[in-house]
Amino acid sequence: MAKEIPYKIYLDESELPTQWYNLRADMENKPAPLLNPATKKPMTAEELAPVFCDELVAQELDETTPYIDIPEEIRSFYKMYRPSPLVRAYFLEKKLDTPAKIYYKFEGNNTSGSHKLNSAIAQAYYAKKQGLKGVTTETGAGQWGTALSMACSYFGLDCKVFMVKVSYEQKPFRREVMRTYGASVTPSPSEETVIGRKILAAHPGTTGSLGCAISEAVEVATSNEGYRYVLGSVLNQVLLHQSVIGLETKAALDKYDIHPDIIIGCAGGGSNLGGLIAPFMGEKLRGEADYRIIAVEPQSCPSFTRGRFAYDFCDTGMICPLAKMYTLGCDYIPAPNHAGGLRFHGMSSTLSQLYHDGYMEAVAVPQTDVFEAAEEFARVEGILPAPESSHAILQAIREAKKCRDTGEEKTIVFGLTGTGYFDMVAYEKFHDQLMENYRPTDAELQESFAKLPQI
Ligand SMILES: *Cc1c(COP(=O)(O)O)cnc(C)c1O
Repeated sequence: MAKEIPYKIYLDESELPTQWYNLRADMENKPAPLLNPATKKPMTAEELAPVFCDELVAQELDETTPYIDIPEEIRSFYKMYRPSPLVRAYFLEKKLDTPAKIYYKFEGNNTSGSHKLNSAIAQAYYAKKQGLKGVTTETGAGQWGTALSMACSYFGLDCKVFMVKVSYEQKPFRREVMRTYGASVTPSPSEETVIGRKILAAHPGTTGSLGCAISEAVEVATSNEGYRYVLGSVLNQVLLHQSVIGLETKAALDKYDIHPDIIIGCAGGGSNLGGLIAPFMGEKLRGEADYRIIAVEPQSCPSFTRGRFAYDFCDTGMICPLAKMYTLGCDYIPAPNHAGGLRFHGMSSTLSQLYHDGYMEAVAVPQTDVFEAAEEFARVEGILPAPESSHAILQAIREAKKCRDTGEEKTIVFGLTGTGYFDMVAYEKFHDQLMENYRPTDAELQESFAKLPQI
């Protein structure tokens, strides 16, 4: 007889993964290498060393080692909030009156409120191990900056965060969480960097963008002795660290012999999705199992569904390496009325290659539907979801409703990446019916694609 499935499937501390899984090792078509923006040749470890910590450079470039040990210091930090629960959404299933079985992996159980801590602690650890003084980074909505501040304070590292100016002003509470953990937070663009002053001169009064903030953070890291830059998504190393999400999910499902049919995740830069799907995609690549894997992105920033698969810059200042990815162009800035997160113009090169090769699907959704799904979910499952996570919730609900119509008992797993307590201004807009949907026109996208670097 089948075992009864509990509301929450917990793993024991002893079942916390001891190794991360490097999905690239099982890919026949490897993601294209990062290119040096000056020479247009693949970036070497030596060229990456002034920007990133040595160990992280090695992880970034390693496309053959399938399993990489998680250092004991990182595992013991993980134990503060991991293994995270895999929850059977019994109440949501009932509300939707669906025969589908819905599970979500909840990553909001730590103070930073999202999965980003999984990589922040790893990156801070390697910086400390190398004897560095500190790290610099950018943050948009603030989740990454918060996670990194927590990680840096744990290892006694200095943490300099460039926060997109509009968020700095509109999200004072996130900023204060970062300062509580000892980080210095500068609104970007700032007068502190050459690139910041240049951007301010060209666009006085600009409220900033992620691309600008990345340029400033990289400049400060490369011009100060003992500092390196760290990034919270997009990079291969970040997907590697986030594989802990997928490995735990798979272990929990295996305990009860559950085989998912559909795996869903929201996609900003691709780190939570890449982490969640890693072991499942590995099986798919090795021909051992099959899954439908769906990336969900906002209609206002549709990198997968309407972007170009091309080499592009990751930052507005065009000083970072070029990555081959689905991109909307590095100048693309999502409409100001877009409140639902996931606003990066590009996408992980690993996921881009997998999508290009037909291993996964993608869908773009309007933000009012996302907030409707968020609210429906909060009212039955209790958790107040982050707007980003709610993209995945929406798609899970859509798939579950299809099952209601067809009578199919599919098993759906989605990533619930975080909580939305700092996003109440967006929820307020939604409740007051002031939230609008925005879909860029083809002409707008064409204009942006015209500026893609010619490689
Ligand atoms: C940053 C963030 C995301 C999106 O980033 P990915 O790198 O695409 O995972 C999704 N959900 C939450 C809660 C986030 O903080």
